[in-house]
Amino acid sequence: MKGTTLSVITAIDTYDIRFPTSRELDGSDAMNPDPDYSAAYVVLRTSDDGAEGHGFTFTIGRGNDVQVAAIQALSGHLVGRSVEEVCADPGAVSRDLIGDSQLRWLGPEKGVMHMAIGAVVNAVWDLAAKREGKPLWQLLADAEPEWLVSQIDFRYISDALTPDEALDLLRRGQEGAGERAEELLRRGYPAYTTSPGWLGYSDEKLTRLAEQAVADGFTQIKLKVGADLADDVRRCRAARAAVGPDVRMAIDANQRWGVGEAIEWTNALAEFDPYWIEEPTSPDDILGHAAVRAGVAPIKVATGEHVQNRVVFKQLLQAGAIDVLQLDSARVAGVNENLAILLLAAKFGVPVCPHAGGVGLCELVQHLSMFDFVALSGTTENRVIEYVDHLHEHFLDPVVVEAGHYRAPTLPGFSAEMDPETIATFEYPHGAFWTADLAGLAGTEVPA
Ligand SMILES: [Mg+2]
Repeated sequence: MKGTTLSVITAIDTYDIRFPTSRELDGSDAMNPDPDYSAAYVVLRTSDDGAEGHGFTFTIGRGNDVQVAAIQALSGHLVGRSVEEVCADPGAVSRDLIGDSQLRWLGPEKGVMHMAIGAVVNAVWDLAAKREGKPLWQLLADAEPEWLVSQIDFRYISDALTPDEALDLLRRGQEGAGERAEELLRRGYPAYTTSPGWLGYSDEKLTRLAEQAVADGFTQIKLKVGADLADDVRRCRAARAAVGPDVRMAIDANQRWGVGEAIEWTNALAEFDPYWIEEPTSPDDILGHAAVRAGVAPIKVATGEHVQNRVVFKQLLQAGAIDVLQLDSARVAGVNENLAILLLAAKFGVPVCPHAGGVGLCELVQHLSMFDFVALSGTTENRVIEYVDHLHEHFLDPVVVEAGHYRAPTLPGFSAEMDPETIATFEYPHGAFWTADLAGLAGTEVPA
């Protein structure tokens, strides 16, 4: 699998991939009524025959116009560099990209540029894991703690987590890692499902999917809330009746509320015993989350899918503002920053229940949780990865969820690679589907 030292990165190719998911209201929530799930997709090409790194970030529809351009702006940092060097130290790549002063002005370390960096950095890790012949979770779990610490940018977080503390946590995580890796391969990692709870679904569909979730072995479901309180009461009642008292039911407001409204609305749903309220308010409002947490206890507060970087996560933890940390594989600057976030969560003893769904987010984020279980926190107690059962068929190594658990991937890489046929069909605007659709061919069928 190893490339030669002469191998270099020859190109960063980008693809604007859009799926017409808004037509079925899959993914609809209180803030996103018409989501066309999309990926700004990147392929690192190399001079090594067949060796490629794949990565992406998740956007919605026209967001991809901007996101793809942002990724293209980074290509000068990688083209011509040694594949071996880049894969030996993805942290150096991450620091280079974050340190581009002209692009840093657009953040710093937040928003479109930061997500673009995440797509590229994740593609580097995909390439590195493929070259090692390991799935990413295993590459991380097998890595020396000292090297993992070298992969983290401690700037702005060392007041909460020092490199020495990170090293201690990782060394402790190595104890029993071998047995946990075996357990992971045998049992998988716990999942919960959001599939029943999209806001655009009828009560009948909600009930049917909630019952199906329990039959499929899930012990937690999630419902979107926040558009209309009377609807939420009715939907929560239907879902609770469908799943019974022992299945956890999380609710997710997708940032719909101000702080006071979040507290009132959540408490109005308390009789249905929600496990957590997710994104009750702006992801930037650290003190607001702390106030919500105090105001809705014992209902837990969860957030993270739109938390822009490790600095905000640090403050959410320092302020005691969250019970559940929902990192996202493609919102921050990729694996390196997510290692920092996993370590911060471990230091503060807050469980990580990653955000997933979208396009390929389940495929990516499972690796981070599995690493966390095997070689960092060492536990899956109160930890679940979000699961949404659509669009997986577009990936070459799709997630497999059985009996409410993600099966650990065994193929080398980051499970990020899309089927070439998907790219040919859904690339916007020239893929086969969009060409026909934009030409106004009535009832263009969405290929399965
Ligand atoms: Mg959410």
